[in-house]
Amino acid sequence: MLQQIIEECKEYGATLVAVSKTKSNEEILNVYNEGQRHFGENKVQELVLKREQLPKNIQWHLIGHLQKNKVKYIAPFVYLIHSIDNEDLLIEVDKQAKKFNRRIPVLLQIKIAQEDSKFGLSESDAEIILTNNKVNKYPNVLIQGLMGMATYTDDNEQIRHEFRKLAQLKSQWATEYDINLSELSMGMSSDYHIALTEGSTMIRVGSLIFGER
Ligand SMILES: *Cc1c(COP(=O)(O)O)cnc(C)c1O
Repeated sequence: MLQQIIEECKEYGATLVAVSKTKSNEEILNVYNEGQRHFGENKVQELVLKREQLPKNIQWHLIGHLQKNKVKYIAPFVYLIHSIDNEDLLIEVDKQAKKFNRRIPVLLQIKIAQEDSKFGLSESDAEIILTNNKVNKYPNVLIQGLMGMATYTDDNEQIRHEFRKLAQLKSQWATEYDINLSELSMGMSSDYHIALTEGSTMIRVGSLIFGER
């Protein structure tokens, strides 16, 4: 299954982030040994522990809701934070990045799903951040694009519609705010095909690669 997903990503020029949350080092190494280098976790503690124990050339993505007080633990090494869902968090990432003398790449997580349980910025809150970014309020972060999660539903048309909306926002805001938004992180095990056809550049796939959690 992994090789098939890797092939599909190649076809679309997208990056595969293997979501390894709750999975053991051994399971992760099996996937690593097939050539996979991008891995995603949703909990800081688990991410930090796995990073210490696994090969150093793994690129670690933080994909889940991030608490401000935990940013410092991942700031020295995190490859990409997908889940910026409020401005205070972004300000904290900027502060910690400065301490470690780096610029941390991030994505703005936008709420595109209909359920209210999902984290994410509203369009207007994202626009405030992009405005402030333009006047260099966060010099130590690099906003590289957007992330979104579609509604959990069997209705493929609704999922497609939500992904399409996110892709539209990405190109609209890139122009409006004169910013290079190159990444669009969307698509999981159940909907990554739809996401790829709607312009995803990064899919986050867990259970299809590692089995059910
Ligand atoms: C768990 C998770 C995924 C992967 O989900 P699967 O359905 O196992 O592919 C993707 N994105 C986020 C934010 C997650 O928390």
